[in-house]
Amino acid sequence: MTNFKIKLLYALSVLALLTLGAFPRTQSISDSSTTPAFKEGENSIIFIGHSTALIHLNGTNILTDPNFNNWTVIVHRSREPGIQIEKLPKIGAILISHAHRDHLDRWTMEQLPKETPVLISEGNGDILRDWGFTDVREMNIWNKIAINGIKITAAPAKHSGSRNSAFADFPKALSYIIQGEKTVYFAGDTGLFDELKEIGNYSQIDVALLPIGAYRPRWFMKNHHMGPDDAIQAMTMFGAKEMIPIHWGSFRIAYDGIDEPKDVLIKLVDNGSLKERIHVLENGEKYLFR
Ligand SMILES: [Zn+2]
Ligand SMILES: [Zn+2]
Repeated sequence: MTNFKIKLLYALSVLALLTLGAFPRTQSISDSSTTPAFKEGENSIIFIGHSTALIHLNGTNILTDPNFNNWTVIVHRSREPGIQIEKLPKIGAILISHAHRDHLDRWTMEQLPKETPVLISEGNGDILRDWGFTDVREMNIWNKIAINGIKITAAPAKHSGSRNSAFADFPKALSYIIQGEKTVYFAGDTGLFDELKEIGNYSQIDVALLPIGAYRPRWFMKNHHMGPDDAIQAMTMFGAKEMIPIHWGSFRIAYDGIDEPKDVLIKLVDNGSLKERIHVLENGEKYLFR
């Protein structure tokens, strides 16, 4: 089959699946209606949903790929965000892995303070400037910056970073290494690829936020999105101490069911040595660093 036919077939099949998109809402397990409180000296991660996480390090809050919208394109949200957007604490930096609409949501960004520093891949900055953001830091792979004493380094990802294409090579998709009192790796969207080993060479990762959803059909998705088995392999490739799965449970954007990636992950590690190192958080649940 030609490349064009494969793309067309895929686009049509995803469209058909997405239009089925009325899924029941479930309740977040925590109280999303209050601003989260952090103890003095606490380092923690709250999983808000999909690829949105609130990383609290050295007293600074870092928000990843913020999406609090009820919709992503034509897909309705299946679970409430773990924190209501108006209850977010002051954010020191926003990290955008790439410009796909489930990771860079316009409605969400319009609710957030425009002076917040936002990191995004080189070539995508104008999207944010057009939305009124005044402190946009365009990053290339292995660029680093410091915010409130936290070092943030852009790292590679095997994915397209472009707003309107799943296939374009530019702008690039990024992942980020976040180094404070603990080191967190935020993978954004990525397939499994060899360069992931460089993450472990760069720094010892305490917790890796790795995507596990939108992984089927496998023959196509494996080049764009990790599945649960890939995430386990990635974690061992770069030697992360612990892992929190992301990119599942809020928007059904591929063939896999809304909870399927999580259920498969839990089965894969059940009774194994990795079980204690993988933390499946519901929306709103907090992970505390040891
Ligand atoms: Zn993407
Ligand atoms: Zn995605």
